[in-house]
Amino acid sequence: MGFFYAPDPASFKVCTLGGNIGENAGGPRCLKYGTTTHHILGLDVVLPDGSLERFSLEDRGPQLASLITGAEGTLGIVTRARVKILPLPESITTILASFDSIDAAMGCVSDMIAAGVVPRVLEAMDRMTIDSIEAYLPCGLPSAEAVLLIEVEGSKRQIERELEKVSKLCEARGSGDLRLATDPAKREKLWEGRRSAYAALARLAPNVLVEDGVVPRDKLPEAARRIKEIAKRHSIEPALLFHAGDGNLHPNVIFDERDAEWTRRVKAGGFEILKMCVELGGSISGEHGIGIDKRRAMAWLFSEETLALFRRIKRAFDPRDLANPDKLFPLEGEPPPEGLIRPAPPAPSDAQNAFVERVREKAARGEALTVIGSGTKCPKNLRGRGEVLSTKVLDRIVALDRGNFIVTVESGVAVRALKAELEAEGFFVPIPLTLGTVGGLLATCPWLPLREAVLAMKLLLPTGEVVEVGSKVVKSVAGYDVAKLLLGSWGTLAIILEVTLKLLAARPDIPNEFPIPPKPTPGPVFARLQNAFDPHRLLNGWILEDSDA
Ligand SMILES: Cc1cc2nc3c(=O)[nH]c(=O)nc-3n(C[C@H](O)[C@H](O)[C@H](O)COP(=O)(O)OP(=O)(O)OC[C@H]3O[C@@H](n4cnc5c(N)ncnc54)[C@H](O)[C@@H]3O)c2cc1C
Repeated sequence: MGFFYAPDPASFKVCTLGGNIGENAGGPRCLKYGTTTHHILGLDVVLPDGSLERFSLEDRGPQLASLITGAEGTLGIVTRARVKILPLPESITTILASFDSIDAAMGCVSDMIAAGVVPRVLEAMDRMTIDSIEAYLPCGLPSAEAVLLIEVEGSKRQIERELEKVSKLCEARGSGDLRLATDPAKREKLWEGRRSAYAALARLAPNVLVEDGVVPRDKLPEAARRIKEIAKRHSIEPALLFHAGDGNLHPNVIFDERDAEWTRRVKAGGFEILKMCVELGGSISGEHGIGIDKRRAMAWLFSEETLALFRRIKRAFDPRDLANPDKLFPLEGEPPPEGLIRPAPPAPSDAQNAFVERVREKAARGEALTVIGSGTKCPKNLRGRGEVLSTKVLDRIVALDRGNFIVTVESGVAVRALKAELEAEGFFVPIPLTLGTVGGLLATCPWLPLREAVLAMKLLLPTGEVVEVGSKVVKSVAGYDVAKLLLGSWGTLAIILEVTLKLLAARPDIPNEFPIPPKPTPGPVFARLQNAFDPHRLLNGWILEDSDA
């Protein structure tokens, strides 16, 4: 029919769409097209109390479909999904680039990302993976220490242009031998081989631990080196298979679970690799999720306050703890494995500290509060609606991560100023050019695709607690996607202090005009969320009263 559904987990022959939504599944193509959450338009969900809800991205108010995606079935069961499909590209070329070492291959990936080259697919594998696949399902992978499997797509001219850039970058890292495949049968054979990696490794030992972590893309060479050190220390043999373009590492470790000592070493080594990912500023899962196995390691990523917010969300939807009760978070009192290692976030500005202090004073007195950006979408007269606090004092660009195409900004930065500053440096932020602040734009969300740029947020809860949600890498599935949930919430749940956004190397196509989006409508599901975020109903109450329902 000429269309395709972009998420392509290697397990696609056996996994279900419901499981993909539960895990916010990724796959090779997600480098260009984003993970499952970017392709969900609406979900039918049976909540743990048996009620059936339909959540659609077009709904007014917070994005509940975004909250359910990646929630690992802890908030309800998805029974039906409306997903985005895309037209098939005109043509696709697959490139195999051989390297003398995994370090060189990882260096090449970092170079590509830093140069703003985003192919359709950018996968990496080491010799152990290549040899296992070729012994199991010969598909024409070159014999090398490492191979990058790259795909470019588009018109003939677009492909030529991309190929030229990719070839130069590969050559600079010592890969002169590029093999191209355009024939669909040849390409499919290569992909069959790539997808068979798990089965190929499973022939070498009875068990395979498929580890799943993420590092910032400029840290890939360091991550590859540290995996080797960790493997040596634990006497384990990981075969490396990475969705390298988005920094997603899959070291696959063979073992025999009947051998207790071998199993212990593999598990310890796997956990150390995850710890290394967090130390480098990454995440403990890119696409396989947390489940039971990694739940204790969530304390490496998130503060006690953030974990407490996640638990309150869980309780708001599932007070009897019926849906996957053991998954996703450390059980109450369960200690984190071997201490906390989260890198310290940049210190807040004096203005941010003062802002937080003011909200804490209000919270301590139980006084209502109205938060605005520059007020372009709010009524002029907000008298009688509690003290009005503007985020415009939060006007810093906190960090521009050039190598990873990521920016963190305070929410009071003007959209116009942010765009201008980034464009002066050759970066484009895929959010519409509107009057007002970045926080106001996200809280009202007039253009749905902006959600694809949102990676993480620092939030101030109406109770005065500061929490950090999401992850400052381009791919992570760890905890509830509260950052996307807040899009369209009109400041009714929490105050956005900072947001981390994904950047592009080329100007995106964004319409210029939007209607003002409708405000959230009060209702039973919204009330559940308020119980988790704002139990005393202190924040922006006027929005719900003014709701144009
Ligand atoms: C060899 C191999 C390769 C893999 N490659 C990839 C890959 O490339 N990319 C990737 O993302 N993952 C990959 N995975 C991991 C896994 O296949 C994916 O996470 C997949 O999305 C899980 O789907 P499933 O149907 O098997 O779900 P399950 O494993 O059965 O469930 C996963 C979670 O989702 C919940 N869930 C299931 N159905 C629903 C529902 N209807 N509503 C709400 N929650 C639900 C479950 O409770 C559980 O918490 C791979 C796994 C293997 C073994």
